[in-house]
Amino acid sequence: MKVALSFILLAVLTGLGILVFGALSLRSLPETERSPVPPRFDSVEMLERFRDGLRIPTISQQPGQATNGAAFLAFRALLERSFPRVHAELEKELISNHTLVFKWLGQVPSGPATVLLAHQDVVPVDGENEDQWTHPPFAAQIDDGYVWARGALDDKLGLFAILEAVEILIQEGFVPQRTLYLVFGHDEELGGAHGASEVARLFVERDISLGLVLDEGGALTEGQVPGVDQPVALVGAAEKGYLTALLEVKSLGGHSSAPPAETAIGILAKAISRLEETPFEAHLDEVGRAFFERGIGPSSTFGMQLVYGNLWFFEPILLKVLESNPTTAAMVRTTVAPTMMKAGTKENVLPTQAMALVNFRIFPGETEESVLEEARRIVADPRVALRALAAGRAPSPASSLDSQAWRTLERTIYELFPEAIVAPYLVLGGTDSRYFRSRCDCVYRFLPVRLGADSMSLIHGTNERVAATSLVEAAHFYHQLIQNADSAAF
Ligand SMILES: [Zn+2]
Repeated sequence: MKVALSFILLAVLTGLGILVFGALSLRSLPETERSPVPPRFDSVEMLERFRDGLRIPTISQQPGQATNGAAFLAFRALLERSFPRVHAELEKELISNHTLVFKWLGQVPSGPATVLLAHQDVVPVDGENEDQWTHPPFAAQIDDGYVWARGALDDKLGLFAILEAVEILIQEGFVPQRTLYLVFGHDEELGGAHGASEVARLFVERDISLGLVLDEGGALTEGQVPGVDQPVALVGAAEKGYLTALLEVKSLGGHSSAPPAETAIGILAKAISRLEETPFEAHLDEVGRAFFERGIGPSSTFGMQLVYGNLWFFEPILLKVLESNPTTAAMVRTTVAPTMMKAGTKENVLPTQAMALVNFRIFPGETEESVLEEARRIVADPRVALRALAAGRAPSPASSLDSQAWRTLERTIYELFPEAIVAPYLVLGGTDSRYFRSRCDCVYRFLPVRLGADSMSLIHGTNERVAATSLVEAAHFYHQLIQNADSAAF
């Protein structure tokens, strides 16, 4: 009896020891870097240039509608006036009429290039909602410390901050060793098929090797990660895929006075119910795992470190918690969102056809085909035809978290935001940067802007605005990143 007890005690102690070891093995935070001295920005003039850019409605209309060419032309003219050194020093190329590519040739042109992306286009303002804007969406007014405008966050802040950084680097006499490309797409909000996609194709054609690619898609979030007090720099290291499926049920129809037991609408409704009630399986992919182990883990309480340092044991419990909230659930599985439905033409006639569209955001590791197959398995009704509405896109695989490119980006974030925690994460939407992923595993998504809990809804939403101080901060970040990348050993 005594021997048995000692064995149990030993087993418990060993188990605890393993868990504590796991917690302690979470990497410690890097030494806080000293913030670099900011360049001599003229913050007043910078802000005026930015506001001028926000006033030009470079709107991406729905696919099929003509691009507002005049607005993009005016925008380019403004950039030319605002950044004379960039236009004199860098080679400029126009792709698909409106996408801008600048090339700053390095002293060692054969080495891997750095690519900074931002997009010129903005989403339209919903006409019905326009009067709900506190300030008109294309007036770029300053109020309460913010610049209010469509595109202020997404993504003209990035575009102007990058150009300000390069403009001042030229002025300072900086001579790049590696080539730097600036890629400013014009159709990102429509999927980037003519802009970034075409640029990426040209890069392949010209055999340009890449060392670091940075786009929007992450930010310095404040108060948004539960249990973490410090700001968290979310850096997108992978992107979910996208697919819309068409569900269709056909039936004989007939008069509504003598309906069959199941109608087209009923069959379709049940199929959609089943899809909602049977979520796709949740997992932690390598980026999700890194978010906990390398990102927030080291800064968490010891109790949470026990969890994050022992995901081999706690993953199922952690997944349950993450699945209980729609935003975090989207980080761990393929999501299913019924978005449109159509059936029937008259109140007393049974429809012969019922249709619905269901939008899937595909989790890494799954494919468009595997998602359709799984959806058919869940619906489990041969009367419901389920097929892809149009070509979707596969998830963009994770970029390396051990590369020189990652370390350069991480170091720059710590230099500029010493109080922050850098955490890789999975981007739920899509960015132009995914087109460059086949070229290197060095594609990351981070816009150096502080976002509070309320700011997320502003992107694409009403009253989009950004703190007026953000522009200098972001330009300082790119100024440092370009130099750090230039001396990194990619
Ligand atoms: Zn964007």
